[in-house]
Amino acid sequence: SIILGIESSCDETSAAICADGDILSNLIANQLVHQNYGGVVPELASRAHQQNIIPVVREALSVAKVHKNEVSAVAFTRGPGLLGSLLVGTAFAKAFALAGGIPLIEVNHMQAHILAHFIDDPKPVFPFLCLTVSGGHTQIVLVKDYFDMEIVGETTDDAAGEAFDKTAKLLNLPYPGGPLIDRYAKQGDPMAFRFPEPQIPGLNFSFSGLKTSILYFIRDHQQKDPDFIAQHLADICASVQHRIVTILLNKLKKAAKQYNVRDVAIAGGVSANSGLRNALTAMADQEGWNVFIPKFEYCTDNAAMIAIAGYHKFLKQEFVGQDVAPLARMIL
Ligand code: ATP
Ligand code: MG
Ligand code: FE
Repeated sequence: SIILGIESSCDETSAAICADGDILSNLIANQLVHQNYGGVVPELASRAHQQNIIPVVREALSVAKVHKNEVSAVAFTRGPGLLGSLLVGTAFAKAFALAGGIPLIEVNHMQAHILAHFIDDPKPVFPFLCLTVSGGHTQIVLVKDYFDMEIVGETTDDAAGEAFDKTAKLLNLPYPGGPLIDRYAKQGDPMAFRFPEPQIPGLNFSFSGLKTSILYFIRDHQQKDPDFIAQHLADICASVQHRIVTILLNKLKKAAKQYNVRDVAIAGGVSANSGLRNALTAMADQEGWNVFIPKFEYCTDNAAMIAIAGYHKFLKQEFVGQDVAPLARMIL
C-alpha cells in the first residue's frame, strides 16, 4: 500500500509518503510569518496552509518517486489543532481521495506523535508508556495498542512547550523559544539558579507556578541590574530547562513504577530538547528501561507520523466518509 499523509494542525504544512510501512518522503513547509507576532496567528496559519499544501504534496510525491495515481489511500490530521488550519488539510485530503477514487483515513494528531515510534526500528512493545510533550499538550500515555491509548497523567495548566516558549518570551527571545533555550542551555550551568518543583498529586503536571516564579525572578534581578538577562542568559536557560526536565521525568518514573512498564518513550516537539533526551537516557540506565527517543525530524509536527498512523488504519481498513469534519478538540 502507498499512503499519502497530510498534516496541517498548527503552523507546519507537511506531506509524506509511506510505502508498506516505510517512509519514502516527509516534506515540511514552516511558516516563518508567525515569528513577527510572538506566537501562531490562526488566520495567517490557514492562509499559509492554503498556499503551501499543493506544492508540498507535489514535492512529497516527487521525492518518493510515486505518481499520484499510485496512492492507495490518503490520511489526514482531523484534530486536535486550529480549526482553520485543520480545514485546509481536511478539504485537500477529501478532494484528493474523491479525485482518485481512494479511501480517506482520519488521524488523531496526538496519537500520531506517539505512533512516530513505529516508523523506524527498534519499535516499542505494547504496553509502553509515552511522555508526549508538545506546544499544546503534556501527557503520560499508556499505549496498549496502535489505537488503544489511555492518558494516565496530564498538565492541569500550561503544556511543557508553552513553559519553554513563555520563558523565552520573558527573556526577549523570538517565537518559538524552546529550541533557543535548548541552545543557550548548553553553555550554562543548570544549578546556577533554583526554580521550585510544584507539588502536584498523582501523575499530573503543572507549569504555571514555574512561569510565575521565572517572571518574578527576572523582574527582581533586573531592578538591581538592567543587564541581568544578557549577562546570565545561558545560566537562566540551563536552570529553567533543568527544572522543566526534572518535573517531566520525575512523573514519568512514578508512572513506570505504577504501571510496571519497562518500555518508555517520549514524543512531540519538546522531545527534541537535548536536556530531556540526555536526562531520559541516564534515567533509563538507572531504571533498566528500554527507552525510545524519536529522530529530530519526527519530534515536531510532520506528516510522516500521520502517514504511519494512516498505514496502520489502512491495514484494519478503517476509513471515513466524505462527510468527515475536522475537530479542534479531539480526545485520544
Ligand atoms: P500539539 O502537538 O500539542 O498540538 P504543536 O503541534 O504546536 O502542539 P509540536 O510541533 O509538536 O507542537 O511542538 C512544538 C513545541 O515544541 C514548541 O513549544 C517548541 O518550543 C517546542 N520545542 C521544539 N524544539 C524544542 C527544543 N529543542 N527544546 C524545547 N522545546 C522545543
Ligand atoms: Mg509547530
Ligand atoms: Fe504536534
